[in-house]
Amino acid sequence: MTATLELTRPFDAHLHLRDGAALDATVPASARDFAGALVMPNLAPPITTVAEALAYRERVLARVPAGADFTPRFALYLTDRTAPDEVRRVADCEHVLAFKLYPAGATTNSEHGVTDLAGRHAVLAEMERQGVPLCVHGEETAPEVDVFDRERVFLERTLAPLVERFAGLRVVFEHVTTREAAQYVEGARAGVAASLTPQHLLMSRNDLFVGGLRPHHYCLPVLKREEHRRELVRVATGGDPRFFLGSDSAPHARGRKESACGCAGCYSAPAALALYAQAFEAAEALPRLEAFAALHGPAFYGLAPSAARVTLVRERWRVPERLDFTADDAIVPYWAGAELAWRVA
Ligand SMILES: [Zn+2]
Repeated sequence: MTATLELTRPFDAHLHLRDGAALDATVPASARDFAGALVMPNLAPPITTVAEALAYRERVLARVPAGADFTPRFALYLTDRTAPDEVRRVADCEHVLAFKLYPAGATTNSEHGVTDLAGRHAVLAEMERQGVPLCVHGEETAPEVDVFDRERVFLERTLAPLVERFAGLRVVFEHVTTREAAQYVEGARAGVAASLTPQHLLMSRNDLFVGGLRPHHYCLPVLKREEHRRELVRVATGGDPRFFLGSDSAPHARGRKESACGCAGCYSAPAALALYAQAFEAAEALPRLEAFAALHGPAFYGLAPSAARVTLVRERWRVPERLDFTADDAIVPYWAGAELAWRVA
């Protein structure tokens, strides 16, 4: 059995770092194993302009450990008030890569999200003209839609028509969780891609309830049936460049998760690369991990892959039960206390 695996340093195409004191934990966690990331803008208040993103970038860079090779890039939060001028500023800024569409109310800090996508025609047309990608949290938020059907319904009602109407728009269907989304992206026109999280490759919705309610496995979009998980593994490990690593690592302090109304999000960053290796090895696809983790994402965003390498060694270890987070509370990482077969050297 292979004992080591050397890869190009990976790129996390969907990462939440939060802000303030949380950055002391989240930035080093990703900078250790990743060459770069696309950092999501759902702060409170959200990052909606290039100027705000550049100020946030300074706060992030201040936490990158000395000597670490980590380049954060940023997405702007698309709101009902985003103007076409802002799209042109994104196209001219090397540090800002994309806009993120949150349907209003879909997830953490998404109350500023778009309420009327049809009314955003001028902005979407400018993104199409400038080649600025739209990253999409693809969930229908109408309250009558069952939570397990939100992604499929969003695909039918909103995403597929959008991709057709703006035929040159570059679109990332973020953190896909269903067979329908995976197969849609597989068959979509050029310029449509998808990111995949470790938890959706490793767990099904049963894992939310095994032995009791598991708040640290709760994220949005929520875990789906096993048949969906298997389909996500198939597309992730199949070598198709439309599918790439986007961890959606989404930290919340322990008390916000272990709560009567717990927050959505899995803090996977501290073990992300080893978690993906676990999923790829289970599918006998380890030789395809590098392209998924380090090549396909940068290629979609027009970035060069990292020139640096990272080495995984076959060595069992346990993800820590808790990690330091803010002054008031610790954080429980995804996969806490459980074993992984690969460790980053
Ligand atoms: Zn996210």
